[in-house]
Formats: sequence, C-alpha cells, structure tokens
Amino acid sequence: MTRSISILGATGSIGASTLDLIRGEREKWDVKALTANCSAKELAALALEFGAEIAVVGNEDCLPELREALSGTPVKAAGGTQALCEAAGMGADVTVAAIVGCAGLAPVMAAVEQGKTIALANKEALVSAGDILMSAVAKHGATLLPTDSEHNAIFQCLEGNNLADVRWITLTASGGPFRTWSAEQLANAKREQALKHPNWDMGAKITVDSATMFNKGLEFIEAWHLFPVGLDRLRIVVHPQSVIHSMVEYRDGSTLAQLGPSDMRVPIASCLAYPQRMDTACKPLDLPAIGELSFFAPDEIRFPATKLAREAAQAGGAAPAVLNAANEVAVAAFLAGKVTFTQISAIVAKVLDTPMPSAPSSLQEVLAVDAEARKRAEMMLEPA
Ligand code: NAD
Ligand code: MG
Repeated sequence: MTRSISILGATGSIGASTLDLIRGEREKWDVKALTANCSAKELAALALEFGAEIAVVGNEDCLPELREALSGTPVKAAGGTQALCEAAGMGADVTVAAIVGCAGLAPVMAAVEQGKTIALANKEALVSAGDILMSAVAKHGATLLPTDSEHNAIFQCLEGNNLADVRWITLTASGGPFRTWSAEQLANAKREQALKHPNWDMGAKITVDSATMFNKGLEFIEAWHLFPVGLDRLRIVVHPQSVIHSMVEYRDGSTLAQLGPSDMRVPIASCLAYPQRMDTACKPLDLPAIGELSFFAPDEIRFPATKLAREAAQAGGAAPAVLNAANEVAVAAFLAGKVTFTQISAIVAKVLDTPMPSAPSSLQEVLAVDAEARKRAEMMLEPA
C-alpha cells in the first residue's frame, strides 16, 4: 500500500534527509507537493526525480525560473505564500513540516486542518503559535509527530505511559561549538565558528541557534506545548556527545532515554513509519567507540537564551512569538555580519523588554505579533 507525502522545505537539511529515506523505499510513497523558498532548479530536479504533482516556491520572484525548469513536464509549478498553504493543504497522508522559521506557520496550519499526519520539524511555528496550533490539531483530529530529535525521543519514551506519572522531562543539549568558551571568547565568536556544529549537520539558522542555546530555548517551549506536564517538570541538561537525545523520568524513579546516532534520518524515519519501524542506512551506535557520556548543568550566564525562553514561556501570551521573531532577525543579522554573536541574545532580551503586544488568539494575530516584534528587533540592530 502506498502513502502520499508532501515535504514543505524539501531543499533544506531536513528535506534532504526525508527524501533520502523516501528514495530507499520509493515504491511505498506517492509524492504530492515539494516546496522551497527559492532554489528553483534544485526544487525542480527533486520534483522530477520523485514524480511530484506540484513544486512550489514561497518566493514568487523565483516562480518564472521554476516554471522554466518544469516546462514540458507533468509537474505543476506555483509560487507565493498562498500557494505554499494550498500545497500544504493537499491532504497528503503525511506532511513533513521542514520550513525554517515562522514563515512555516501558515503552511503548517493548512496541513493540520486536513486532519492527517504532520511530522513537525519547524519548531518556530510551535513556539510562536503553540496554543493555537495544538487546539487546531485537536479540533481537526490531526496526528502531530515531533521530528525534532529531542521531542521525538521524548515522544518515544512516553509511549504506553501516562503523563501524570512523569516526574521530569529532560531535554539534552550538545552545548554547541562554544560550550567551553569564556564570555570574552564568545564576544569575538565569528560566523564561520558558529556554523561549525560539533555533532550535527543542519541548516544555518538552527546551527547558530545551537551555538547561542536559543535552539534549546525554542525546544523548551516546543516541549511545553507537545507534552503538557507543566514548565516546572521540564529541564535541560548539557550532554556534549549527543547520544542520548532526551529522557523521561517517572515517579517510580525509572528514567527512559532514547539513544541514537546524530543523524536526523533516525527521528524522521520514526515519524514516517509510525507506529511501525523502517530501515535506515544510518551507522549503528558504537558505544565502546563513544566510550563515555557526560552531563553538565547549563550555564545561563554565558548562554542566557534558555533563561529568556523559560521566562517567555512563563509570561505566556505573545512573549514566545516575540522571542522567536526577535531571534530570527538577530540570527539573520549575525549571519549577514551586522551584529556580533553575543548581541543575538542581547537583542532578544531588549525586544522582550518592550511593551508586550496582547496575547494572540488566532493565526492572523500571531503573524501580526511576529511582524511587530521583527520591526522592533530591526530597530535595535547596531553595527558590529
Ligand atoms: P534549512 O535552512 O536547511 O532548510 C529550510 C527549508 O525551508 C528550505 O527548503 C528552504 O528553501 C525553505 N524555506 C526557508 N525560508 C522559507 C520561506 N520564507 N518560505 C518558504 N520556505 C522557506 O533548515 P533545516 O535545518 O532543514 O531546518 C528546518 C526546520 O527544522 C527548522 O525549523 C529547524 O529548527 C528544524 N530542525 C532542523 C534540524 C536539522 O537537523 N536540520 C533538526 C531539528 C529541527
Ligand atoms: Mg533538536
């Protein structure tokens, strides 16, 4: 039996890992929509390889190039935000949400409204619109499978158990490339250094987020929505080897952990095959070669991001969306060489200190909060 699949953000790192898994069992999948922001040629090549029904670029300026690359083929081409949402809403059995940033929110919502399965990698969507998205999941009877490795680990450790029995959910963090750096060194951290993650090969934005620890901050908020045990039962531990992807401790003192190679194909495969399992070509864990696993408490003085995220979650309302938007702007500015590494957290903290917009209660309101917070963050960008 074949299942249909759409991949939002098909040209990215998660998109590539997903397509690699599909390539390994081509006969089982019917590819509906593949999307990208621009990368028209790359997207067209993937759409042709996988026999997609439609290829969509979010940036309409890239549509002519996509049309040209697909002319004379059966693959349809479309562009723009509306087209992304229509592609997400095609009712595929599985939609992999792998657009980076709040730009993925409206398409994720369109997929949720179909009431099918969503493999969610796009954490920013859940951070910005957690309550709204989770209510829509319940309302439309959709199945939301966490693809982020930590959340996928927690999801697996929770299976067959009762949330009421959970004592702690512990998110593990690699600590990123600057884990052992002094505050002084962090102030001089360069873009190229931030882009070298010790364990994972990922898109640029999440790699910088891992270096600042905003990735873990966003994941903390993500976990709060996905696994409603309350903020005081969520904690973070730094685990530099990234072998344990997260853990759940129960009230009887048992801790369940999920281990695996630092390869996103593992959590993605668990979503694609859910509730079954599928083969992957990932290297098996070689524990004797790894030797030792170590754990540290996070240092929120050098890396204030997790503290800012926890406070934003405690404040609730618009705060998580504001935090996310400010971080997106600050990371883009850092990647463009406009601000220093430590200014990323400083900018987010400053934007969170401006008067908070009222709590959004719809997708449109979240997008308005996001736009307003971006404006405020842009105003705070100081030359590096
Ligand atoms: P990436 O930058 O490699 O890819 C992003 C994809 O989204 C690309 O296909 C790009 O064309 C598309 N895109 C970017 N901006 C867009 C826009 N404005 N409109 C429409 N499409 C747009 O990113 P990634 O590393 O694959 O991460 C994707 C998401 O998954 C992020 O939310 C990230 O936090 C999450 N995630 C990634 C990893 C990983 O290992 N890469 C792990 C866990 C979670
Ligand atoms: Mg993660």
